[in-house]
Amino acid sequence: MNTIKNINIDGKSVFIRCDFNVPKDEFGNITDDRRIRAALPTIRYCIDRGCKVILASHFERPEAGKFTPEHSLEDVAKRLDTLLKIKNNLFFDDSKSGAVVTTRAKELYDQMQDGDILLLENLRFDEGETNNSEEFAKELSQFAEIYINDAFGACHRKHASIDAITKFYTKQNRASGFLLAKEITFFGKILKDPVRPFVAIVGGSKVSGKLQALDKLLDSVDKIIIGGGMAFTFLKQMGYEIGNSLVENDLLDEAQRVMDKAKEKGVKFYLPVDVVAAAEFKENTTVKYLPSQEIPKDWMGLDIGPASTRLFREVLNDAQTIIWNGPMGVYEMDKFAKGSTKMAHYVAETHATTVVGGGDTADVVARSGDIDEMTFVSTGGGASLKLLEGEELPGIAALEAE
Ligand code: AMP
Repeated sequence: MNTIKNINIDGKSVFIRCDFNVPKDEFGNITDDRRIRAALPTIRYCIDRGCKVILASHFERPEAGKFTPEHSLEDVAKRLDTLLKIKNNLFFDDSKSGAVVTTRAKELYDQMQDGDILLLENLRFDEGETNNSEEFAKELSQFAEIYINDAFGACHRKHASIDAITKFYTKQNRASGFLLAKEITFFGKILKDPVRPFVAIVGGSKVSGKLQALDKLLDSVDKIIIGGGMAFTFLKQMGYEIGNSLVENDLLDEAQRVMDKAKEKGVKFYLPVDVVAAAEFKENTTVKYLPSQEIPKDWMGLDIGPASTRLFREVLNDAQTIIWNGPMGVYEMDKFAKGSTKMAHYVAETHATTVVGGGDTADVVARSGDIDEMTFVSTGGGASLKLLEGEELPGIAALEAE
């Protein structure tokens, strides 16, 4: 892959597509700035080479053409300024116009000196971003001589700042940033040549979202642990009464096919042997720890139980490589978070290379205090899943295109 190191950027203007789509709390404070910090190496590299740096990112899903303060990148600009600690200027387009390539942005651009930064407003304020509009991409490209994609978390989308924009740069003038390169090499290396035993932990709400990834993982892992809501489709297919637990009845045959494939390939397939069950989907409700085969009709499994966590710990004991995507239960509610928290501790305790993918799973390991113990925590949810599915990301394809 062509990385920023392989091209000449000295003293040039550089457009860096970042992923600053960070989580915020109910007061609008940034709760986890990992995605901003992860972009710093590329930004600093450009500043050190006397570049004018233009930064752009999307944030959540605003209505295009309308300024909504909760979707503004203003807080991101402030956090960037705090984290970068540079003498150079950090300009931010504060015209609050609900557009991206504004007169104000162009004015600020004209004031830039070498080493200065300009952060544009939320790219999705312009409808051209999600429509992959060439016109919008062209406007963006007029800011810079060099295009750098460092937005791993957005690379699975064919949007203007990811895809269409690459048409306005020759191969010598576009490349991936350090974060993107790191994400791709990490996943690539692990999936191609893992140190064994290689264990995948797959959780989250639905089988449908992860079916392709599961299928692909079965080609390379030695063991697979299934948790979260998706486990119940498998348990039901095995003939268990699962009560009101989350299930996808149209995927029962697929679940059987996955289990058959595991058997055929000699992959050990583990499902929860017990669950934390409740009659209602709410925080303050009575819970029961029940074997997976004994869920009452009106109850639902909302987390894996203590016997399952112990079993999964045994499974992880000899692991040399672990890949984890998806929580073990409804971890957002304290009562159903223990399964995920314990798994995070166990994964951290192993001596394996550990790769965590997916926003929720990264959130779980951050909350459990284990994030620094992991070998690699991916900044992209959907994008990392696409890599597990063995698919080429549109963002990478566009960078590599002739
Ligand atoms: P995903 O986006 O597919 O990775 O799913 C993550 C979501 O799955 C989280 O918001 C969890 O609350 C949810 N989840 C995990 N386990 C369960 C369960 N047993 N029942 C319902 N939802 C679950």
